This record gives sequence, C-alpha cells and structure tokens, in this order.
Amino acid sequence: DMATAIETLREAVLERGRLRQIRDMAQQLEHMAHHDALTGLPNRVLLMKTLENRLEHLSASGQPFNVMLLDLDRFKAVNDTLGHAAGDALLVAVASRISSVLGENDMVSRLGGDEFAIIQSVTDDCRADAGALAKRVVHAVSRSFNLEGSDISVDTSIGIACAPDHGTSGTQLLQHADLGLYRAKSMGCGLFVFYEPGMDMAAQHKHALEIDMKSALENREFELHYQPVVNLQSGRIVAYEALARWRHSKLGIITPDRFITLAEENNFIKPLGEWVLAQACTDAMSWPKDIRLAVNLSAVQLGNDDIVPIVDRALETSGFPAERLELEVTETAMLERDSSARALKLLKERGVRLVLDDFGTGYAGLSTLTHVSFDKIKIDREFVSGLPGNPMCSAIVNTIIDMAEQIGLRVTAEGVEDRDQVEALKLSGCDEAQGYYFAEPAPLAHVLKNRAVITPVGKDEFGDTVRSLQETYCPPQKAI
Ligand code: C2E
Ligand code: CA
Ligand code: CA
Repeated sequence: DMATAIETLREAVLERGRLRQIRDMAQQLEHMAHHDALTGLPNRVLLMKTLENRLEHLSASGQPFNVMLLDLDRFKAVNDTLGHAAGDALLVAVASRISSVLGENDMVSRLGGDEFAIIQSVTDDCRADAGALAKRVVHAVSRSFNLEGSDISVDTSIGIACAPDHGTSGTQLLQHADLGLYRAKSMGCGLFVFYEPGMDMAAQHKHALEIDMKSALENREFELHYQPVVNLQSGRIVAYEALARWRHSKLGIITPDRFITLAEENNFIKPLGEWVLAQACTDAMSWPKDIRLAVNLSAVQLGNDDIVPIVDRALETSGFPAERLELEVTETAMLERDSSARALKLLKERGVRLVLDDFGTGYAGLSTLTHVSFDKIKIDREFVSGLPGNPMCSAIVNTIIDMAEQIGLRVTAEGVEDRDQVEALKLSGCDEAQGYYFAEPAPLAHVLKNRAVITPVGKDEFGDTVRSLQETYCPPQKAI
C-alpha cells in the first residue's frame, strides 16, 4: 500500500510539474500573441483589445481618450544605409523613449515596421492633453541616437483621433488617426495633426501616389500605350498617339488622368515628360516611315524653359525625324505664358507639327489660333460623343471643321466610339478620327503584334482597309 501511495504521490507531483509547465507555456504564448517580439511592446492585437475595453469603459463612465498613430520619418534611410540590425536597434531605442514620456495610464504599441500607436487617457481636455503628449513624443524621438558609434537622428509624425468625437470603434479611430498622420507627413517632419471630418481618403491616396511617383520612373513603372489615328478618307492609320500609363506595383495600371495633374503639381512632369518624349521617339523608329507620332505636352512642360532642348535631345538620340513628330497642347496651356508661345515657335521651326488638343473645351477659344501657327486641331470627345443625334454637337463639330478648312488646318475627331459617328464625321469633311471604335490605346508590342488595330470595322467597307493595313504597315517579320 505504502509503495502504491508513494507511486501515486510521485505521479501527482510529476503531473503538477507538467501542469505548471503547460501553464507557463500558455502564459508565454499569450504574451507572445499580444506583444511585439522586437521591442516587447503590446502589438496590434492587444491594441485592438485595449481599444475595445476603453470604448466600453467610455460608454459606461463617459471617460474620453485619445488614439495617436505615429511613424518615423527617414527610418527607411537608416535601414537602407546602416542595415537591418541598426534599424532594429533604433526601433527598440525609439520604443523606450516613447514609453518614457507616457502618462501612467497610457499605452504604446508597435504595429509593425516603424509604426507605433498610443492610447492616451484624458485627464483634462482631449486636445490639450494630446497636444502636450505629442510634443513630448516628438521631442523625445528627435534627440539623436547613438547606434554602433554613429549619431542618428530621426523624426516622427503623429496623427491624432479623440474618442468619442472622432470615432466610436477601434478601427474607425485608427483610420482617422491615420488620416491625421498622412496629413502630418505631407506637411513636413516632426508634426502632429488632429483628424478633421474633411480629411478624405481621396486626398490621402493622392498623397500616397505622390510619394510613390518619385521612385516610379527609376523602377521603370511607366509605359507608353499607343492609339492609332485613322484617315477617314483612306481608312489608313496615319499616326499613333503616345499615352502614358503607370503600372503601379500594388495598384495596377493607373491612367494619366490620375497622375498627370499630380505630376504637374510637384514638377515631376519634367522628368516624366522627358522620358515620354525619348521613349516614344525611340519606339516610333520601328514604324513605317509614313506614320507619325503624336506626343502630349502639358501646360507645365511647355512653361518650362528647357522644353525645346528636351525635344531636341529626344529627336537627336533616337534619330526620329522632327517632321514626323506631332506635339499636342491644350488651349489652357497656351494661356499660361508668353514663353509657351515662344517655345512652340522654336519647335515649329524645327519642323515639328503642332496640334491643338481638346479643342472647344479650353478658355482661350479661337483667339488661341491667332497666336500660334498650329497644323491641326483635335475636336474634343465631348462634342463627338453627341454625334449624330445632338443638334448642338453637330453644329459645333461642323463649324469647327468649316473654320479649320478656311484657315488651312487639319481636323482630328477624338473619342469616336461608333459607326454612326464615323459616318457623320465623314459627311462633315473631317480629316482624321481616333477612338475606341478603331482601337483602344495598347502597348507597343501589342500594337505591332495585333496588326488588325481597326478590327471592329472589319466586316463592312472598312474591312478591306484592315487587311491592306496589315500587309502594308506591319509585315510579320518586322512586327517585334
Ligand atoms: P487626350 O490627349 O485627350 O487623350 C485621349 C484620351 O481619350 C486618352 O485617355 C484615351 O485613352 C481616351 N480615349 C481615346 N479614345 C476614346 C474613346 O473612344 N472613348 C473614350 N471614352 N475615351 C477615349 P488617357 O490615355 O487616359 O489620357 C488622358 C489624358 O492624359 C490625355 O488626354 C492627355 O491629355 C493626358 N496624357 C496622356 N499621356 C500623357 C503624357 O505622356 N504627357 C502628358 N503631358 N499628358 C498625357
Ligand atoms: Ca492628346
Ligand atoms: Ca484630347
């Protein structure tokens, strides 16, 4: 009996030991699940749980609190130049600096990368409390760090949302703090910004794009698509218009209406425009000699002093003849400056053709035509889309074509999408047309491989033209 009792006791002791071990392991796992391994700070999971608790507490006792999101300015540079180990050391040091300036009931968590979040208990006034803590954090982080013998300095930007005014769920508070953070970053380093209801995602996306744009050219994310311009009498392709596309690594293809204005705002249009001209001229060198190339120039490009040398360089480097280049500018561009008109005059002297784009939609109207000697005008899609049913559109299109004829300009109709429009334009005596009816813009390789660019017209009177185009312009051996 004694022996059995001892054995049972031994087993029980062992079991207890095992249980304790299991309990310790469970605690460790629990800790790991809620904390960041590098800095030991609470992680996103614990942050979300704490937010939910605080929100419950808020609805029970009315106790408001603040949520702050911060990330480090220039952290990537440290990582890139000093390596990941130094980057990690910096994050640990930053975590400890932030912790040292927190109030007793505040919590800082690391969300990943160089992103941290703070939940701040409010004792007095939400904004005053948040402002005071944000200043302490910015100051603490901005003091230089000594890493592996070198002094490193970084800054932090902070976005702040106050509960309950700025959100009633954890996710919403974080989203709103994030909007504040984006704004803070766009304004400079070391700033904090409170969420405001007007801050919308569109503006934030725009800002994010602006940042990505800076590296996109280097990363070869821009490409050119080409859309044919067809002569309405012969049915032949007489030109291709180069249209820029941005193949964003995360967002996919972005069309120019989303990035050209942005590029103009931050003067990125200069390097981008230079690349477009050089690439398009190089691409067009492989085309048959009677096909022209059209390239768009924005008002900002035209206003830059060096637009003429940039065009010269593109032509020289590629060997593309100036006479086959058409530069498309808008009426608005012409209004901007006298220097634009001067630049166009110089380009014209080189043999380049000038095209007035989007005609009828700008402010300048007919007077533009008297300042610069254009070769061609493009009637905006807005008027073409009303053909043939809308009498006002028909009248405008006819008037433009008549006027152009009288002053010796050619006319291209843009945005032609159906057969009836083609017929109406032919009747009006329009010279050229461009639009999805013939072909959508497509990458160079696709255009050359898929020679039947005006396939949709294939079966009727344009059918013959399609076949002859395939043979005349892009014999298979030349295709790629
Ligand atoms: P845009 O010069 O008026 O170019 C024509 C636009 O209409 C293109 O849009 C084209 O894809 C679209 N389009 C063509 N046919 C049709 C049609 O039948 N129906 C409809 N609904 N749309 C049609 P995309 O490529 O998005 O370009 C938009 C604008 O961005 C261009 O208008 C041009 O002003 C500007 N852009 C494009 N590439 C460049 C560039 O390399 N540099 C500069 N500065 N601006 C560019
Ligand atoms: Ca154009
Ligand atoms: Ca246009």
